[in-house]
Amino acid sequence: EKTPVTLLGLGAMGTALARAWLAAGHPLTVWNRTPARAAALATEGARVADTPAAAVAANGLVVVCLLDDASVAEVLSGTDLADRDLVDLTTGTPAEARARARWVRERGARYLDGGIMAVPPMIGVPQAGGYVFYSGSHELFERHRETLAVPAGTTYVGEDAGFAALHDVALLSAMYGMFAGAAHAFALIRKEDIDPAALAPLLADWLVAMAPAVHQTADRLRSGDYTKNVVSHLAMQVAGTPTFLRTAEQQGVSPELLSPYFELMRRRLAEGGGAEDLTGVIDLLVH
Ligand code: NDP
Repeated sequence: EKTPVTLLGLGAMGTALARAWLAAGHPLTVWNRTPARAAALATEGARVADTPAAAVAANGLVVVCLLDDASVAEVLSGTDLADRDLVDLTTGTPAEARARARWVRERGARYLDGGIMAVPPMIGVPQAGGYVFYSGSHELFERHRETLAVPAGTTYVGEDAGFAALHDVALLSAMYGMFAGAAHAFALIRKEDIDPAALAPLLADWLVAMAPAVHQTADRLRSGDYTKNVVSHLAMQVAGTPTFLRTAEQQGVSPELLSPYFELMRRRLAEGGGAEDLTGVIDLLVH
């Protein structure tokens, strides 16, 4: 017998989660503020609750996937959470997750926060590689491990309820940096007779080839030694930055995505980091 699940929130993500649990044979109770969004799921076997309170009362495992933390507070405020296992898949900040964890525990429930590293079409499709960061109650995570693994992979990152959100935002922040770099690269060729579709595979392969550098960065941060076995030292890299800026200018491209990083590299060099690699930039960011 599969664990019954209550799911509050049937947006794009909630609906995808609901379908994954239904397809796997989990009894499912759903609630959504706009009832129309639950209609299709009802025909697929979901039980539709009239209120959040009724949905929460239906099952021990309660999953929320709403727009933001404020909507979670609003929706759960009129419910009895005593002895529930609450899994919050709503995106928020680490501080919001920690505060929500306290709020939920005060109401007698266990709390697990989740950060979804997938878009709705990847949910329920294991080969798509989507997964969810979880943090908070390890007891809850272990108890519901199999049920949680139905919509996407699971990666537990610690008892601190804020850690799932922190990992989620860290990875997405790195993604935006990568997108920013790719945007600049495409801008450089925009006015030339170069097919963007010819640049794309070169760009993708290059980014993949460079990505493992993060392991070396991690090793340097752990050891505190930013200068051992450095291949491309900061002094050399800063000396090369005018080439990037002049090329951008010659191509009629704004340097605004590139300049902030170059500025940090220059500052680190000025402070004596010339023999380091780029790891020292991280210390300039943290205050
Ligand atoms: P949608 O905008 O599609 O759905 C939002 C949901 O929140 C709806 O069910 C909506 O109800 C509900 N809602 C909003 N405000 C309130 C409120 N005040 N009271 C009650 N219900 C409310 O968003 P998604 O489903 O895409 O996203 C849900 C969560 O999942 C977000 O936190 C998002 O960041 C996260 N996520 C989404 C991803 C994506 O690609 N879509 C990827 C990773 C995470 P109603 O139908 O009545 O409007």
